[in-house]
Amino acid sequence: MNVYDSGRMAELLEPLGYAATSCADDADLVVLNTCHIREKAAEKMYSELGRLAQQKKTRDDSHPMLIAVAGCVAQAEGSEIMRRAPAVDIVVGPQSYHRLAEIVARAASTHRHRVKPGIIDTEFPTESKFDHFPIEIRPRGVTAFLTVQEGCDKFCTFCVVPYTRGAEFSRPMADVVAEAERLVAGGAREVTVLGQNVNAYHGIEEASGAPTGLAQLIRRLAEIDGLERIRYTTSHPRDMDEELIAAHREVNALMPFIHLPVQSGSNDILRAMNRRHNVDEYRAVIAKLRAARPDIAVSSDFIVGFPGETDADFEATLDLIRHVGFAQSFSFKFSPRPGTPAAESDKQVPEAVKEARLHRLQELLNEQQRAFNGGCVNRSVPVLFEKAGRHPGQLIGRSPYLQPVHVAADDRLIGSVAQVHIEAALANSLSGRLTEGAVTFGAPHGA
Ligand code: SAH
Ligand code: SF4
Repeated sequence: MNVYDSGRMAELLEPLGYAATSCADDADLVVLNTCHIREKAAEKMYSELGRLAQQKKTRDDSHPMLIAVAGCVAQAEGSEIMRRAPAVDIVVGPQSYHRLAEIVARAASTHRHRVKPGIIDTEFPTESKFDHFPIEIRPRGVTAFLTVQEGCDKFCTFCVVPYTRGAEFSRPMADVVAEAERLVAGGAREVTVLGQNVNAYHGIEEASGAPTGLAQLIRRLAEIDGLERIRYTTSHPRDMDEELIAAHREVNALMPFIHLPVQSGSNDILRAMNRRHNVDEYRAVIAKLRAARPDIAVSSDFIVGFPGETDADFEATLDLIRHVGFAQSFSFKFSPRPGTPAAESDKQVPEAVKEARLHRLQELLNEQQRAFNGGCVNRSVPVLFEKAGRHPGQLIGRSPYLQPVHVAADDRLIGSVAQVHIEAALANSLSGRLTEGAVTFGAPHGA
């Protein structure tokens, strides 16, 4: 979601004469778009700011550097950021980006008069920032992100999202469809629909005024000519309704891959986390998805060392993983976040225990990922080619299951889907060769 926001910020600043550059060395303005979800992510920001402060000192008046901090750390820490890192000129929260152009213009003018701008904007506005983003969108390449929903009302006891991104908000369906059409016109062949809880999406159907969910949105997006693939992330197990499961059975463009975080395999821990689903419910959702789309690949998020987690709770998580079988996953040590109930608990798990559990968990998850990738060898899979690979004559694309696939192929295939015979599996990627007769140049997409 930060990648999406960063793209939109660059577009907002274009009218002021800014253009994106690949490194800070020659930048007039550096925007750090930050994440507050775990402590490590926030700490990264401060070390990056230290480096930028040194760079800023080397600039003279003819080429000053403005530094802005955006994203959820900005929202959560506000003025504290300027106290710890005085080189920062602007702090802007994720719900205030529609005011970014005005803020940057003000800061640049203040800076020219040699006054430190010191602008902080972390108000939750009453209007939607999406209504103020430019209509025009710069081409994002073959695969594009599209945020349709933000914020969260679920208040899991470990999570800062409801505090930093605010209450759940869904964009109107017509706006989302129009934006997807512009992305496809700009060359996108795959759109990943994003939200903190994307399957809590609720729009309004323009014609009838009826409420719609993510399933209807996906069906509508699938009608866009030239859009080959649709994905969505991140979904919550409680919001996996029958219609979304049916979409996996019926919508060809919807890829057979789902990221469905479960966090823990222990009912006691799920209850303490306020997840509002239990292990059996999670397993039942996976079973339904597999019945609807037998080749669906599943990924998840796990937290180890949540306060009060016993050895037995942790073993229950390993049992759930063995039962489900994940194609890939993300796993984290519990990180106490300021202002969340779990951070206040007096049942914190010692660091060494967290470390050992994470190690065991990741061993099992890596083994499952290797098995999943290995299972693709000697099969033919459709690959959407995205870009040139590291070696000359090589392209990188993705399988339906999100695995990167390396193939010797002509550049003209970028943006097309072709069948690839998988010859080898590595830990995180596959390689293969184009299937004879799979390639026709010059045909319209999808032909
Ligand atoms: N809305 C999604 C998750 C979004 S946050 C859901 O409910 O499933 C992304 C992931 O970060 C979470 O799934 C969780 O595994 C991890 N995470 C969030 N807060 C954390 C914390 N305090 N410590 C460790 N991991 C955390
Ligand atoms: Fe955070 Fe996801 Fe829970 Fe919302 S549902 S509070 S985003 S972990």
